[in-house]
Amino acid sequence: MSYQAGRHFLQIPGPTNVPDRVLRAIDNPTIDHRGADFPPLAFACFEGLKKVFATKSEVFIYAASGSGAWEAALVNTLSPGDRVVVFDSGHFAALWTKMAGHLGLTVDSIACDWRQGPDATALAAKLAADPGHEIKAVLAIHNETATGITCNMASIRKTLDDARHPALLLVDSISGLGSMDYRHDEWGIDVTISGSQKGLMLPPGLGFHAVSAKALEAGKTSKMPKAYWRWDDMLAQNRTGFFPTTPATNLLYGMKEALAMLEEEGLENVFARHKRHAEATRRAVRAWGLEVYAQNEAAYSSALTSVLMPEGFDEAALRRVIFQKFNMSLGAGLSRLAGKVFRIGHLGYFNDLMLAGTLSGVEMGLKLAGVPHKRGGVDAALEYLSA
Ligand SMILES: *Cc1c(COP(=O)(O)O)cnc(C)c1O
Repeated sequence: MSYQAGRHFLQIPGPTNVPDRVLRAIDNPTIDHRGADFPPLAFACFEGLKKVFATKSEVFIYAASGSGAWEAALVNTLSPGDRVVVFDSGHFAALWTKMAGHLGLTVDSIACDWRQGPDATALAAKLAADPGHEIKAVLAIHNETATGITCNMASIRKTLDDARHPALLLVDSISGLGSMDYRHDEWGIDVTISGSQKGLMLPPGLGFHAVSAKALEAGKTSKMPKAYWRWDDMLAQNRTGFFPTTPATNLLYGMKEALAMLEEEGLENVFARHKRHAEATRRAVRAWGLEVYAQNEAAYSSALTSVLMPEGFDEAALRRVIFQKFNMSLGAGLSRLAGKVFRIGHLGYFNDLMLAGTLSGVEMGLKLAGVPHKRGGVDAALEYLSA
């Protein structure tokens, strides 16, 4: 591609735009991870992350992508052959399911309408049919990044409680944490998995999770083979502010800064900002005469919006035009949504004018790519943002 002046618009739903403050923090000399300067950095990250997860329990940070923290959650809590129930609610749910299968778990999938998201009543039926408690864990995605649909975790918790079922509740909030209200302790989640490159505004490279006392206890009898991911080794070192292996020191500098930024803005304000940008985006989509992929209003994601293309028009062609003409990246349609859906990421380090620019790029792209639409999407969003 030829020279492009100005900033690239990275409006995929992760990795997200990294704030200059975070980049400057990462741009510091690497220190000795066994030296006296290291523990204050580690403790700042642990304490800050606990606030974002809303937990008083343990958090673990790995040099890994989010998928590493997925694996760590499974291998630390379960044993080979254990039955796990998972909602087939989108591309990322399918990937986690595949991983569970590779690890030798017995996966029991609950079919979902991808435009509606997980259905707690289907889980209730599964649990009721399991009086012997063969199901060891329920796996759910808090914010399905392929569809732009959230899952009400409090209702999943209630379903388990109502059934008096002891299965662990393992939740992926890789693209929800730091953008949407999340309450690890209050919702009784056993492991909440997340990653650095979405709401946490960091480059890719860190996977982390919050772990309940019940999950730590399950970890003591788990027989899944594990080495790098072991909680016991990690915890023993973390208590003194160190790690068993070399941590991603410079990403931890960035994490400390990003957590400070979330705290300065205030998590409530962060969540409200994301909600508002999501609403403005949906107004633009509707004004264009296009459809928001998510059909259940109560489950709209604040982090991204998946937009259905008109029949016969390919999202990849639209994204290509927008990338070439306006230097903006939008999210692709994933697995069964390839070609059919494009995704607008509006999470992380983002403000009204960045959203206005993003939506302008989409509107101009629709025109240039010859996608049938009405004008006025940007106007509708601006009207809402300035009301
Ligand atoms: C991005 C994402 C993942 C994958 O994380 P990686 O960092 O690519 O391993 C998993 N689940 C969800 C919901 C995601 O958004």
